[in-house]
Amino acid sequence: MDLKDIGEFGFIERFAHQFDHLIKNDDSGIGDDCAVLSVSDTTNHVVSTDLLLEDVHFLKDRISPEELGYKSLAVNLSDIAAMGAKPLYSFLSLGIPKNTKVDFLDDFMKGYYRLSEKYNTPLMGGDTTKSPDKLLINVVVVGVVEKSKMHLRSMAQTGDIVCVTGFLGDSGGGLKAILKQMDVDTDIQELIDRHHNPKPQINEGLFLGKEKYVHAMMDISDGISSDLRHILKASGKSAKIDVEKIPVSTLLRKVAKNHNWDITELGSSGGEDYELLFTMEKEKFASLNQAFLTKFGKAIHTIGEIEEGKPEIIWQKNGKPLGNRKSGFDHFK
Ligand code: ADP
Ligand code: MG
Repeated sequence: MDLKDIGEFGFIERFAHQFDHLIKNDDSGIGDDCAVLSVSDTTNHVVSTDLLLEDVHFLKDRISPEELGYKSLAVNLSDIAAMGAKPLYSFLSLGIPKNTKVDFLDDFMKGYYRLSEKYNTPLMGGDTTKSPDKLLINVVVVGVVEKSKMHLRSMAQTGDIVCVTGFLGDSGGGLKAILKQMDVDTDIQELIDRHHNPKPQINEGLFLGKEKYVHAMMDISDGISSDLRHILKASGKSAKIDVEKIPVSTLLRKVAKNHNWDITELGSSGGEDYELLFTMEKEKFASLNQAFLTKFGKAIHTIGEIEEGKPEIIWQKNGKPLGNRKSGFDHFK
């Protein structure tokens, strides 16, 4: 059997539950955006870790070192936001090719520092080693959340609406332009900038997290077609999603029209937007959306509903059934 037959998540499932009996009652490990470590009757610490490898997660000649430092921390902060938690500390480990310029590393750290300072999250340690060829970056972030305000992927309830905190597909569009080595005009550059400068939804996560009627939450790293399935599997529910309701920016619509891109495809399966995906009680939507709009200057978008059934997405277009869509990003498939 090859890794590509089972994929990233098939591999993780092969060993994940072996450790269950070693995990204390109030803690939880593999399977959510962060591990959950109970530190008191009322408080949890949450821990996220992500690996970025040159030529897999980034192309060194396309992203600036400052953006790379920023993004390495941002993707981890996004997982902290997904729990409704506040970041506390970070750790940074690097495998560095010998010929790397110190200027490059200084700029990398400048970007890392910029985001650390923004969320008052100091770098507390890490490790540094030589790498034979490619730059390797691993970040760990520790956060804190009141137990009553924590949001797991398993919390979706039948009748909930499915919501996202912003436009989807811009980052995927930027990546597409990079990979296709397209000529870079101002519009394409803006999409590439979105891909390189994701905004972790920390304050949005804290805002949503304090509401009891907000249920499951996660961040969108692989695209909703893959990420929502994780919520459905963890919650044992099904979801009906309308592709016409997936929020796509005016910018992406314009570029997609010019270059014949499928915006539905990018909106549902393009990854790395790092917006939050969550489910909530339908009746509370109007007031929550109003408060969110006032506080953050952007709207929450409703894309579908949670139902009883197999943990699969039932895709619709304007209320009519649609076939299967591509299932988001998996490293090995
Ligand atoms: P995210 O996209 O939110 O960072 P992933 O999809 O990368 O999450 O991972 C899914 C879950 O599997 C997470 O709980 C993560 O901690 C866990 N995981 C991924 N790879 C490994 C590994 N090699 N060992 C242990 N746990 C892992
Ligand atoms: Mg995540």
